[in-house]
Amino acid sequence: LLLAYEPAKRLARMNVGIAESLIAVRALFDILDHPASVTEADDKPALQLTRGKIELDNVGFGYRKKDRVLHGVSLSVDHGERLALVGPSGGGKSTILSLIQRFYDVQEGAVRVDGQDIRTVSVASLRHQIAFVSQDVFLFSGTVADNIRVGRLGATDAEVEQAARDAFAYDFIQGLPQGFQSNVGENGVQLSGGQRQRIAIARAILKNAPILLLDEATSALDSESERMIQIALDKLVEGRTTIVIAHRLATILNADKIAVIERGRVVEVGTHPELVGMSGVYEKLYRYQFDEGKIERAIA
Ligand code: ADP
Ligand code: MG
Repeated sequence: LLLAYEPAKRLARMNVGIAESLIAVRALFDILDHPASVTEADDKPALQLTRGKIELDNVGFGYRKKDRVLHGVSLSVDHGERLALVGPSGGGKSTILSLIQRFYDVQEGAVRVDGQDIRTVSVASLRHQIAFVSQDVFLFSGTVADNIRVGRLGATDAEVEQAARDAFAYDFIQGLPQGFQSNVGENGVQLSGGQRQRIAIARAILKNAPILLLDEATSALDSESERMIQIALDKLVEGRTTIVIAHRLATILNADKIAVIERGRVVEVGTHPELVGMSGVYEKLYRYQFDEGKIERAIA
């Protein structure tokens, strides 16, 4: 982890931004197994952001050329909208979020943000507009404050603390032996899954990007963490373009659109009542995953 942090610091001095450079570090590791990873130099024009509309247009992709993971995926989500991706594990949901951040290039079709093919703009300018909250939060060796400040390197201590408050992380951080100056990472304090996710949310709040990509935790969080995370996320998605890989019923019911992803294809798109009315994959998925009474109470 220290090794990963050092080059990240150097990249940060090159005016790339730690969030971007952590992604760059990740991309460096990724090329070892995936030749398709995007590692090119940033000499392209910056993304011109107007609304933050994301479109996947007939996207085909595989981590290995012969092994297609996505087939003809078309999706769009506009400013202020929430799109929920649901479907069985291994279907390609996380891959879609990776492609939007351009960790990899598509092999067919295109990903566009505000009409611009993301391959034609600089990677840094694209990622600058995106906050990503994933289920496996990467904490590097450093203080809690450093780990939140990854969201925006120039943020003041007061801004870091405010982001922590908005993410419901402030109280547990103050309860750590050295508060915001406590060390996390391999030899630092141990944080629970829910606490780590709240740090990721604080980062995203600090970044204040118009596009928000969320990969909801599949692992059970304690109910107090879950409730606070839900409130923080509900506030965070307001006024942004949001795509969320949803595992919780409440998130799915709050979405403007739901896309069911199965074996790399979009098999159904619609609102919860529309999809239930289709009596297709979605309806089966949710009859299996959540008991019907619970769904009915939730939409009543
Ligand atoms: P989901 O998020 O819906 O569970 P993923 O997008 O993670 O699905 O995975 C889709 C498919 O791509 C799976 O078959 C998975 O094994 C494969 N896959 C995911 N990530 C990688 C990777 N980094 N390298 C190779 N294959 C991958
Ligand atoms: Mg996934």
